[in-house]
Amino acid sequence: MELERSLQSIKQRISAAALAAGRDPEEITLCAATKVQSDETIRAAIAAGLTVCGENRVQELCAHLEADAYAGAQQVHFIGHLQTNKVNKVVGRVELIQSVDSLHLMQAIDKQAGKLGIVQDILLQVNVGGEQSKGGIAPEELDELAGQARELPNVRLRGLMAIPPIALAPGDNTHYFVKMRQLFVDMKEKIDHNKNDINCLSMGMSRDFEDAIAQGATLVRVGTALFGPRPAREV
Ligand SMILES: *Cc1c(COP(=O)(O)O)cnc(C)c1O
Repeated sequence: MELERSLQSIKQRISAAALAAGRDPEEITLCAATKVQSDETIRAAIAAGLTVCGENRVQELCAHLEADAYAGAQQVHFIGHLQTNKVNKVVGRVELIQSVDSLHLMQAIDKQAGKLGIVQDILLQVNVGGEQSKGGIAPEELDELAGQARELPNVRLRGLMAIPPIALAPGDNTHYFVKMRQLFVDMKEKIDHNKNDINCLSMGMSRDFEDAIAQGATLVRVGTALFGPRPAREV
């Protein structure tokens, strides 16, 4: 019941933020960050109307898949750091891998997708805040990696993802979102074919998703605001 209410409230906040920015609320996808949540919680959220789940650990993804916990969801995304040696547990099992941040990883995804005879949708993760602790490529590396993505037949680049520093106050991350929006637009402009494939800008979390929407996010990843605080040991 509470989950239903918080899901409704987040959807309303997404709509309000979109409308305030002169955007169509339908342009924005809510991806629930389901890390540490149980199969039951995920099922309850889907029953309440959640359509996209984002996992950031391979182990949790596999366990939830095994338990068929995502049944009824439209999509499952991978949003966490992905090691090359775990690629075969993720490729073809999720609609979108949001967290690609090296050529090596992209090549491994391409190889596995080729084996399965599929094309895997991916986003490139940008470390927009330049934080040492975070994954993602530097903005300066984006052009090259986006170019390399085009050479790989079994990956399809759909856009960009970013996890800026934790926002302490509303508006704190707006300049990062503006920068991501610019990188996204530039990348799209430089691509000469299949431009329309590039349609996903994943940014904004519980503390700042409205600011991200104001700056052009098409997908927001929300955990705490939906499910409540996570146990302290978890990232
Ligand atoms: C946990 C997580 C989120 C959601 O964080 P909240 O602050 O709880 O909304 C979003 N994106 C990624 C990659 C995450 O790991």
